[in-house]
Amino acid sequence: MNIMTKKERINEIIKILNEEYGTDFKTYLEHNNAWELLVATILSAQCTDARVNIVTKDLFVKYPDVYAFAKAKQSELEKDIYSTGFYKNKAKNIIACANEVIERHGGEVPSDIDELTKLSGVGRKTANVIRGNIFDEPSIVVDTHVKRISNLLGLTKQQDPVKIEYDLMKCLPKEQWILYNLQIIAHGRKICIARRPKCDECVLAGVCPSAKIKK
Ligand code: SF4
Repeated sequence: MNIMTKKERINEIIKILNEEYGTDFKTYLEHNNAWELLVATILSAQCTDARVNIVTKDLFVKYPDVYAFAKAKQSELEKDIYSTGFYKNKAKNIIACANEVIERHGGEVPSDIDELTKLSGVGRKTANVIRGNIFDEPSIVVDTHVKRISNLLGLTKQQDPVKIEYDLMKCLPKEQWILYNLQIIAHGRKICIARRPKCDECVLAGVCPSAKIKK
């Protein structure tokens, strides 16, 4: 790796990620409003976005708004979302979450991170998806890929997702926050795979302190 300042190295990482993975940050979960994205994100846990989109196509017709979800019968909602997996928990959380959004926020999904994470079924990751996509509040979603690869790239030394989020917010420019998550997920799936990173094929090898290149 060439001698570079940390800032130069981060700028280079961003440039390479933008070139390799693009700068389109549209979410793959189909939705028409904040509530629908919240439901889709809850359903996406342990499930592909493609499967969630198939399920929500009919689901959002049957339950057109947060009030309809609040009144849903749990056993029926379980059947409606069965194919997304973990359907009992997801149905319970969605109904509870709908009632909380109505009681605490007049039926509108809040933008505040603390209010979002108080809702049933909504962790910091889901909250950041909503903030980034609906409210244009830049946020960094720290999932397993972001946690692992940010450590490998030397952008954080933390293991706690909230501490990683703060480290990344300090070193990455705001306009890169949402993109960074999407690009690193793509990179983690394709190249920097856990336990067998393909450093020889990695576009970041020249700026990665953890690169192991076979000679
Ligand atoms: S060089 Fe290796 S460890 Fe570093 S990001 Fe690329 S694949 Fe991961």
